[in-house]
Amino acid sequence: MKTILLLAALSLAATSYATSTGSPFYGDPPDDHHPWCVHDWNRPQPPRVEPGPAKPCPPPEGAVVLFDGTEATLDKWEADQEGHIATKWVVHDGAMECVPKSGYVRTKEHFGDCQLHAEWAAPTNVEDESQGRGNSGIFLDGVVEIQVLDNYNNPTYADGFACAVYGVAPPLANALRVPGKFQQVDITFRRPIYKDGKYLYPGYVTVYCNGVLVQDKTQLEGPGGHRVRSKLGPLPERGPIRLQDHGNPVRFRNIWCQPLPPRGHETGIHGPLSAEATAAKRKEIAAMVRADAAKITAHPTIQMLRFAESLVYEKDELTFQKVEQMAGQYVAAIKQLPADKFAGAKDNVKSIARVFQYLAKNNIIPTGFPPKADLDGIIKAQGWDKEK
Ligand code: MG
Repeated sequence: MKTILLLAALSLAATSYATSTGSPFYGDPPDDHHPWCVHDWNRPQPPRVEPGPAKPCPPPEGAVVLFDGTEATLDKWEADQEGHIATKWVVHDGAMECVPKSGYVRTKEHFGDCQLHAEWAAPTNVEDESQGRGNSGIFLDGVVEIQVLDNYNNPTYADGFACAVYGVAPPLANALRVPGKFQQVDITFRRPIYKDGKYLYPGYVTVYCNGVLVQDKTQLEGPGGHRVRSKLGPLPERGPIRLQDHGNPVRFRNIWCQPLPPRGHETGIHGPLSAEATAAKRKEIAAMVRADAAKITAHPTIQMLRFAESLVYEKDELTFQKVEQMAGQYVAAIKQLPADKFAGAKDNVKSIARVFQYLAKNNIIPTGFPPKADLDGIIKAQGWDKEK
């Protein structure tokens, strides 16, 4: 009889462990790069940081306003299901409110890399605990959840905290205001870059909560998720911004999105560029500068300098020869100046000499470039190099 009772007690304990969120034996276990389980209560709680006073954060020029407190902007959202169905979420006092069990909402417009501003408030009526209190979520690209949760005096597993990349990265701090007050989140989202199936550059999220940095360019490890260790892989090129219905009447307001330009590893010019992309861009800039130089026919010295400028981007042999020839003509003209005009050319000569010094110092022209040697010689002979 005793044995039967003991077995029954053990079985009850095991059931309770396996079904309540955040208990041991719940999320995927540690691995070579993750010392904690997914949703691990042994992972430290984010430290409390009191945020500064709230300030309005209206959308900047050019941002896509996704919700401005009006019924009209609720029309930018739909139920997160097939068929473009109107959401059952409601607008109250300038905020859109989750109607529990009505389902997620999503934007009709889709976004990839973006800056997103949103403000959310957990219910004033504090109920339940851990993941049950004021839970929602902001999904970027349709898949990466930045957690929305009332963690004001409400511990939970660290990777499920408000402003966590859910199931992956806890926030650096807990900077929440009391429930009922609006929390401002500012998110920068960058997808990982893949080309022909090859991983080229990581994706990141940066998040500020009430002005406090809580995700510091956190490298994405996939979309994040519940109980399962997230795996790195390509994300959709674009997706809706989705807001979660987790059964709590969480409110949102002042939501705007600014799409971000592509990065250097894609087709853009921001961030690190691959060697190939850099070479291609330098060629393009050089061609643009040369084309501009070709038009400056009325001012030979300025034209020569503009051609020389193009060499900074690309060592084009024909252009180099042209610069050498034009510089030779410039030096010859200087040498032929009558004595009364010679002194007047001083500043011009010195500035042209500085250009050749710069180019030689950076190995763009040879140190022994004859016009450079000529100009340096003139400057020395005149004593202009000793002047301040
Ligand atoms: Mg959530």
